[in-house]
Amino acid sequence: MDMELEGIEGEAVGCHFTLESGKTLRMGGGEKGDPLFRDPTQPFRELTILDAGGALEFEEKRGLGVYVNDRYMSSGRLYPGDLILAGSSAFLVREISSDPHRAEMDEGGWSPLNGFPTFPVVEIPRLFHSAFREGPFLSCVMCSESLEGEIVEPYFIEKVYRGSEVVMECAICQSCVMGMGGEMSEESSDKIRDFSRENANRGSSLIHCGFCGNHRTHIREYNVFCGGVNRFAIPGSFCVLCEECVEGLQSLLSKKTQDVQKDFVDDHFPGVPADLGSPVPLFF
Ligand SMILES: [Zn+2]
Ligand SMILES: [Zn+2]
Repeated sequence: MDMELEGIEGEAVGCHFTLESGKTLRMGGGEKGDPLFRDPTQPFRELTILDAGGALEFEEKRGLGVYVNDRYMSSGRLYPGDLILAGSSAFLVREISSDPHRAEMDEGGWSPLNGFPTFPVVEIPRLFHSAFREGPFLSCVMCSESLEGEIVEPYFIEKVYRGSEVVMECAICQSCVMGMGGEMSEESSDKIRDFSRENANRGSSLIHCGFCGNHRTHIREYNVFCGGVNRFAIPGSFCVLCEECVEGLQSLLSKKTQDVQKDFVDDHFPGVPADLGSPVPLFF
């Protein structure tokens, strides 16, 4: 299996680092060297990655560690679908496909026949898989429609983390999100729009909170979001929000909208404690 790292955020966005069997790839490192893992809020990282056949073995040479998906690690194995986050860069581990259809998809992004816009896509990173199923989400949590096959309707994934534990997760199709949005009070929609406009200066990121800009290293409790279509994810939609910002957003919602959210959680996540104190979900 040939593998590569694809930069999906930061300095290396769009770059591909191919792993050669038996050869060691070095990334990051000294101040004068490779700027890949540069970030004013973090010391430099330096990674070595070796293709060990079927998996990649990595080591963070300075002992500082990096995020792999939702865990902080100094060494270990990487498989296709894993995300590496360090400094201000994010990389996705990918299998290089010899399938021409897949190769075409990798080049041009997703462009179904019905006139949907083309946008870059990647295989859904493991971070956005269902922790419960240990694989991709298969259906919408509300209407139970399949998210696989020839489906072209976009959907959204949200997972709520407390440390490295997932306490809530779901995938929900666009129709259901729009349906819930219709139930939200006008007052709440206006406030959310204003809050987003004032705070969203970082845009979509897996490294920094999308609102306050705090580095992921300093965030223990957070929500991650991703847009998907079929078996692909849309990197431009990746987002992490820290719990404080999620609560800030939540506090703006009217009683009516909070009730809509509460009903949603009660209906679909009977196991989630009422005192989670987090707006789940934040799609609308
Ligand atoms: Zn649905
Ligand atoms: Zn924040």
